[in-house]
Amino acid sequence: MLLELSDVSLSLKRDGKYVKILDQVSFEVNKGETVGIVGESGCGKSMTALSIMRLLPEKAKLSGEITLDNENVMKYSRRTMEKVRGNKMAMIFQDPLTSLNPLQTVGRQIEETLLLHTDLTKDQRKERVIHLLTEVGLPRAKEIASEYPHQLSGGMRQRVMIAISMACNPSLLICDEPTTALDVTVQAQILDLMNRLKVSNEMSIIMITHDLGVVAEVCDRVVVMYAGKVVEQAEVKELFLNPKHPYTKGLLESIPKLGVKKEKLGSIPGMVPSPDKMPHGCRFFERCPSAMEKCRGAVPPMVEVGNEHTAACWLYEGKEGEVPDANVGSK
Ligand code: SF4
Ligand code: MG
Repeated sequence: MLLELSDVSLSLKRDGKYVKILDQVSFEVNKGETVGIVGESGCGKSMTALSIMRLLPEKAKLSGEITLDNENVMKYSRRTMEKVRGNKMAMIFQDPLTSLNPLQTVGRQIEETLLLHTDLTKDQRKERVIHLLTEVGLPRAKEIASEYPHQLSGGMRQRVMIAISMACNPSLLICDEPTTALDVTVQAQILDLMNRLKVSNEMSIIMITHDLGVVAEVCDRVVVMYAGKVVEQAEVKELFLNPKHPYTKGLLESIPKLGVKKEKLGSIPGMVPSPDKMPHGCRFFERCPSAMEKCRGAVPPMVEVGNEHTAACWLYEGKEGEVPDANVGSK
């Protein structure tokens, strides 16, 4: 196993008060695996990523355990953490323009990462820059190295970001909605590139997205989050064929199916509760079509609902190992 989060909770100060943004988030990422984190916006996906990277605001309260290669990174000092970022784990964001420096050439920016994290000589760095740009599928790597971010297309900029994140061969790459801003063709190319890099660099990926199409394309396993909590986890195929949590079912129903005409794209009615007004029991209660009285008052436990498949829902309480296939007969 490469990364393990156990009972990670996060509180942030908002308007002078602490509000809980993540509540006992637990999941694992194995070596060479791509784990998707899905959910609507505001469910804690990005905050989970920033907690792993420890890129949190000054007054954030983070608890629980995050282990990377069997070491608890929560105990690392700021300095050690700076070394870990870039070297062992790297992150790419939705909009590469905000992460790239507009005043520096692309080549210079990749070189700076190398300067910070490696002992390579100047010539070796120059060589590595060209190698990285070529590796992420940019033709004319030499020319591109001397260009500025604004001279490149959105897809090319995201490739540059990937090159920067790959500069030190991280064992974990965290991607937060990396293709959301790109058109469909470019999106497919970028996902393809990530799949290829994962294999060639023996890397693990955490793919944060609200797009289940992206999940189907690249993920081995999926963690579904709702209102700061993990509500379901399973292998990607199992999750798509046999979703258990009513929220996951809702998410899957809201994607358009090939060949099925729909007047309007479905979405789950209602909204994610705000962190300072969390319901006492199940957080999905207000929006859940299967809600029962007990769901209002008590937090549902995480239940084993299949092979390496867990869901936090009262519907499955006491039914471990004998869960019927909810989809049988409905196809
Ligand atoms: Fe719905 Fe109850 Fe399950 Fe929550 S615990 S998802 S309200 S059935
Ligand atoms: Mg986000």
